Amino acid sequence: MDKLDQAIRDVVIGNRILAHEGVVDAYGHVSVRHPRDSGRYLLSRSRAPELVELGDVIEFDLAGNAVAGDTRPPYLERFIHGAIYEARPDIQAVVHAHAEAVLPFTISPTPLRPVVHMASFIGRHLPVWDIRDRFGATNLLVVNMAQGRDLARTLGAERVVLMRGHGFSAAGRSLPEVIRMAVYMPVNARVLLEALRLGEVKALSPDEIEAHASMKPEDPSMRRGWEYWAARAGCAELL
Ligand code: MN
Repeated sequence: MDKLDQAIRDVVIGNRILAHEGVVDAYGHVSVRHPRDSGRYLLSRSRAPELVELGDVIEFDLAGNAVAGDTRPPYLERFIHGAIYEARPDIQAVVHAHAEAVLPFTISPTPLRPVVHMASFIGRHLPVWDIRDRFGATNLLVVNMAQGRDLARTLGAERVVLMRGHGFSAAGRSLPEVIRMAVYMPVNARVLLEALRLGEVKALSPDEIEAHASMKPEDPSMRRGWEYWAARAGCAELL
């Protein structure tokens, strides 16, 4: 199958997985960098992830313009994706979500960090971006490139950036990798919240995080999760 066709199918699968695993609801989105043009990315039109179909996927330039003159309403926050691809040539896929379990860590001084091994991919440091710092009183949405680039600056070289009172954006070296990170973000946050109630928390060490992060994005174990979640989400036929 053509690389672009497969990438479009993968975007649909990614959307369905995030919805089925409860990482997104009507809101939140996932994109992949265009397989043949690093200056473009593929993202659904403005539609709930659970409902996204092949025909919904639109090609955007990094500034967030639909390249083929598609006039269907896009996601207001598509600038998150383009700004991260622009800043990070190593990144091939981006997820933005509002998963509830993560939100307490966006509004409190307690840092979110990986405490369970399946979440080690989220990286050792998760910076928190507050849109108010540079843009004052907004509706908290990332609605232009200036805001997207500011978010990408806070992400820096990390894998995930938390967004104050809003959610998170995750950047992966492949779509299966970023989906896996996004699925385990709320799991890890829930475990950490529960553990904090019990007392002192023993987080993963930097060396432990590094040991896991050195796993290649094309490792068979990554594919295993991707297939499993796709089947659970009812879209195995798209694999
Ligand atoms: Mn959002």
